[in-house]
Amino acid sequence: MEDVDEDTEDVEGLEDVDDDFDDDFDDYFDEDEDEDEDEVEVRDGYIIDDDDEEDEEDESSGNAAPSSGNTISSQALQISHQHSPPTTRSRRRRGPRMSRAERQADNLYTHHPELKYIWDALEKLPKIAPKEVPQPDGLKLTLLPFQREGLNWLEKQEKGAFKGGILADEMGMGKTIQTIALLMTEPDTKPNLVVAPTVALMQWKSEIQKHTAGRLSVCIHHGPSRLTDAKEIAEYHVVLTTYNILESDFRKQQTGFKRKAGVFKEDSAIHQVNFHRVILDEAHNIKDRSCNTAKAVYALKTRYKLCLSGTPLQNRIGELFSLLRFLEIDPFAYYYCSGCACKNLYWKFSDGRHCDSCGHSPMHHLSFFNWSLLKPIQQNGHDGPGRKAFENIHKLLKLIMLRRTKTEREEDLGLPPKVVKIRRDRFSEEEMDLYDSIYSDGKRKFDYFVAQGVVLNNYANIFTLITRMRQMANHPDLVLRKTLSDDCEARAVCPICISPCVDAIESKCHHIFCRDCISSYLSSFPGRAPDCPKCHVDISIDLSAPEIDTPAVAKNSGITSRINHENWRSSTKIEALCAELHRLRTPYSSPKSIVFSQFTSFLSLLEFRLNSAGFKTVLLQGNMTPTQREASINHFTDTPDVEVFLVSLQAGGVALNLIEANNVFIMEPWWNPAVQWQAADRIHRIGQKRMCTVTYLIVDGSIEGRILELQEKKKRLIESTVDADQKAMEKLTVADMQFLFQN
Ligand SMILES: [Zn+2]
Ligand SMILES: [Zn+2]
Ligand SMILES: [Zn+2]
Ligand SMILES: [Zn+2]
Repeated sequence: MEDVDEDTEDVEGLEDVDDDFDDDFDDYFDEDEDEDEDEVEVRDGYIIDDDDEEDEEDESSGNAAPSSGNTISSQALQISHQHSPPTTRSRRRRGPRMSRAERQADNLYTHHPELKYIWDALEKLPKIAPKEVPQPDGLKLTLLPFQREGLNWLEKQEKGAFKGGILADEMGMGKTIQTIALLMTEPDTKPNLVVAPTVALMQWKSEIQKHTAGRLSVCIHHGPSRLTDAKEIAEYHVVLTTYNILESDFRKQQTGFKRKAGVFKEDSAIHQVNFHRVILDEAHNIKDRSCNTAKAVYALKTRYKLCLSGTPLQNRIGELFSLLRFLEIDPFAYYYCSGCACKNLYWKFSDGRHCDSCGHSPMHHLSFFNWSLLKPIQQNGHDGPGRKAFENIHKLLKLIMLRRTKTEREEDLGLPPKVVKIRRDRFSEEEMDLYDSIYSDGKRKFDYFVAQGVVLNNYANIFTLITRMRQMANHPDLVLRKTLSDDCEARAVCPICISPCVDAIESKCHHIFCRDCISSYLSSFPGRAPDCPKCHVDISIDLSAPEIDTPAVAKNSGITSRINHENWRSSTKIEALCAELHRLRTPYSSPKSIVFSQFTSFLSLLEFRLNSAGFKTVLLQGNMTPTQREASINHFTDTPDVEVFLVSLQAGGVALNLIEANNVFIMEPWWNPAVQWQAADRIHRIGQKRMCTVTYLIVDGSIEGRILELQEKKKRLIESTVDADQKAMEKLTVADMQFLFQN
């Protein structure tokens, strides 16, 4: 706090303070509109909220923060004292010759002299050189050498000035394990909080229990019956929750929720707990700095903070801010006033015109991160000031981030080789005819949009046309059986006899079986509780329940209920997969494979076809509950004769650890290559001992060849681009679309 007071005195000692403000105002109103956009950006950076309660809380945490982690700033302040005192500004340099940007910088440095020397400070601060340390007692798994270094880095980073950092090892190198090792270095400290995507929740739980032999107590803070008492929550060593739960609990506390009798607010239990440590898994989930999830994360109370992320942050500058903000890295997490010593973690202008802390206008305030790093890069790319900003970001990341890649640590990892293959097949004549009619229809519409100059207005329509061609390359039913047609009535398919249900009854987990099939299935489990053949949770079903109306339920129960079972035909793509799977079998073993598709209805068709060909399968879909998901994963890994895991790309692209399998099949190419790399990494990770094969299935003469080419282009873009984010990769440009519609 002393530092801040000193600054204020300096400011008061200035004679020309008021003049400066007038200059600034004139400047701002003389600006061209488009040059003002940066100010709007900053203003948008934090949503102004009128909620009184939030104001109070914001202020208290805003004031508490500067004392907690201001080492870069205080180092910079020390350096600034060695230079000429900040109050002696040469009067001659000011005036009309100075550009607006120069004047802004000049004002900023006058009131916050340390900011001028931030980059020198970054270089001066000691970097942690991690050493291999012995692994903690009680950890049941042997850490690899680089993981023991990682553990050492985590410990030192917490003890150091930043009280945490970012562990950004490449996917599949055991960030979870290193984190559990960190927890085991002081197994009695509690509570720790892990915030993870929903799909990763159960994996965290089982890995903690497995690798610590139950030494750490784990509480899952998820679902309607989650704890509401902060004291009870704080009793656990590790609390696991999701970004969604955190966001919704925080929203109920801040803005409340509507009931008939009015709006109610409810304290978020998890936000009352003083955590020892908060760990953000897949931390890029908070990349949008102003989203409610990010705010809910910022509001957590904790001593130490750790971010885990496998994405290369150095190429995603815009997304980096949220992590720096969560870690409260001073000065990058803060907003500064260029008119006085005001410095704040929150962008607070309750009346829209005056800073709650200092009274100056929004135009006087800036985010130091945006101003010093993001904007130079946005404006200059890799050149000039942009290059300088990149260098500065790397200096900063060296202090707070540890990233190792598989290639760097190849020897430590001992990973077997990974082979990537592309299998190409040709349509049958009948498929070709169907595809051609879909293609010419789509092409005609696309050309019309181009001719009218309305391509961008019809992005969704064009996307649908492309999706239709992609689905056609998988199986015509995906396009033609989207809805029920006249030649057959909807009938739910029994997963046991793989044909339309006879005398159907429904389980509690909403799966439908023939009464006879499920009865004999249940009686084949004399010893243990039987699991649902479809989703593998403990099954609960009333065998004496009246028959359900299958046409009614079947309407919502997927594509297999709409196909004609008597004369259904497979497709080139499906048969190609069958052939590949047959080829993998040897007289002695049936290796496990993972099959990825983006289309859940295609996975259902694959399930139907593979089951009738004698392959046992498990299906993993995005709409499963965490329990169903965990049960399905365990069923795949623990049951020897289950050969195929059918996984929707949305459900299994991340947070799956499936080294029991060593083959991946990607059923259709996707233009964002990163998504497929992630999918392939599910098997090619620590613990894998066998050679891995990744096979892409392509139908020649369809849009898929073009998509592969587009993927190559996007790959080069990812490697060269400045600030490529996931969304930009997913999005098709007009040129991309034109490319896909060429024949
Ligand atoms: Zn101010
Ligand atoms: Zn202010
Ligand atoms: Zn049946
Ligand atoms: Zn079920």
